[in-house]
Amino acid sequence: MSNGVATNGTESQDQTHTPCQRYLSTRGEDGGHSFEYVVLKGLAADGGLYIPQEVPVVPESVWQSWKDLSYTDLAYNIISLFVSPSEIPAEDLKDIINRSYATFRTPEVTPLVHLQDSIHLLELFHGPTFAFKDVALQFLGNLFEYFLVRKNQGKEGRDRYHLTVVGATSGDTGSAAIYGLRGKKDVSVFMLHPKGRVSPIQELQMTTVLDANVHNLAITGNFDHCQDILKSLFADPEINATHKLGAVNSINWARILAQTVYYFYSYFSLARQSESFNIGDKVRFVVPSGNFGDILAGYFAFRMGLPVDKLVIATNENDSLDRFWKTGCYTKKPVSGSKAEGGLPEDGAKAHEDGVKETMSPAMDVLVSSNFERLLWYLAYEFASSAGMDDEWNKKQAGQEVSSWLTDLKVKDGFGPVYKDVLESARRNFESERVTDQETLDTIKSLYQEVGYVLDPHTAVGVEAARRSVKRAGADIPHISLSTAHPAKFSGAVNLALQDQPEFDFEAKVLPQEFVGLDQKEKRVQDVANDWTAVREVIREQVEEELKALDSA
Ligand SMILES: *Cc1c(COP(=O)(O)O)cnc(C)c1O
Repeated sequence: MSNGVATNGTESQDQTHTPCQRYLSTRGEDGGHSFEYVVLKGLAADGGLYIPQEVPVVPESVWQSWKDLSYTDLAYNIISLFVSPSEIPAEDLKDIINRSYATFRTPEVTPLVHLQDSIHLLELFHGPTFAFKDVALQFLGNLFEYFLVRKNQGKEGRDRYHLTVVGATSGDTGSAAIYGLRGKKDVSVFMLHPKGRVSPIQELQMTTVLDANVHNLAITGNFDHCQDILKSLFADPEINATHKLGAVNSINWARILAQTVYYFYSYFSLARQSESFNIGDKVRFVVPSGNFGDILAGYFAFRMGLPVDKLVIATNENDSLDRFWKTGCYTKKPVSGSKAEGGLPEDGAKAHEDGVKETMSPAMDVLVSSNFERLLWYLAYEFASSAGMDDEWNKKQAGQEVSSWLTDLKVKDGFGPVYKDVLESARRNFESERVTDQETLDTIKSLYQEVGYVLDPHTAVGVEAARRSVKRAGADIPHISLSTAHPAKFSGAVNLALQDQPEFDFEAKVLPQEFVGLDQKEKRVQDVANDWTAVREVIREQVEEELKALDSA
């Protein structure tokens, strides 16, 4: 696929891959920042998301020479392109990376397994909490710690830089962030989850962590409400004047960066495992998507030079992304009159008044995908570039366009249709599929029957999308379908799909030892109303309590 942008293109041999060291905001009003600044800050001051000023294009001869590297050596090669050595010296960065992936249960970190025909599964769930978010959050936790240790050298008591991490989770971010940050000095973690709407295992994984710096808040609302509270807090001058807020949601650039690594790694694994696949050949990646962070990492890998045929977005019935690719309009709800297609099992999916449906793949129950804004910036940038002005003008235009789309999204619940050229450039690199709950269950069942593999429901959404994509692309293009969670995290859906399989035994076949007895452990969680000022109050109180305990220690 070609994207027609001058800064991309593996063809051109004389392009150097200068490490990108500075970041700008997608809304164009906040730029020139260091990696450390954007990692600690999360969201930009103008409400946008940080992106690198330039995506380094890695010459073919360079990235192809990475093919036999270990996961951590590959990670170092990729991540160091985006971090200036004057910010993190090479040896320190290597150490951070090595420690981040030493917590994984397999040395390969993200192994690739052949599933069926031309479909391969990239297993991303071998980290401490059994979901793909560990790949990014183990790294982010260690980065936070590294920056804070450095900032606090020689400082005592209240002079120390104290980071207050606030996150929203529909399940997996919460536990992965908590495991990335528990017990770390000078950091408090507040994790907001929609009360009663995360899977029982996920809830236990979060609430049974009793470290003093970990605070679970159960919000009476849905996940989008939690995200709204988060946005209000980050935009609030009062809390920002007294607390240094940090973000662990996938708006944090370091998360996207860490995830680009496994796109390269799985590509090389495929070349090792498959005789008919050679380095240089194209692949398709299929990504079960919610906030669009995971697939966006694939887009960066592509822009860096990885031969990607298409990135296939797989959504559940919360399909705002899928509708964008079909219509060019991005709206929270389908525009009235256009009835949802696909024969929804209305009893299986409860609709809430704001349009978000509870599905069997709850980590994808998102209608406003925060990271989509980053892709929008690139689409607007390409569009501006076609006018043939200078790069500074193109970037300024892109920022303005993104701001106006996002304003419409906030004020009118949607934007679009976007210009035809913008939609075309989105379709050049991406395809999309929407998978219902019934199709999700059918996919779990058929893969179990056909190859004996137990998929979690999110992964099943991806595999169904991959099967459809194979029909379009043909069997010659290998598909790497991302497996985002271990099936034991979503026992409800897995058991429902496989209940009538005579020899299926969840505890023997699926349940990892680590989950046994979790429900017997002590829990810590606090209920809070769906009101951002109430959350702000809780944060103030609890941070003060933590600091007091340190004062007297
Ligand atoms: C977070 C998550 C997703 C969605 O990833 P995004 O980066 O938000 O698109 C999919 N599956 C699982 C299991 C997840 O935890």
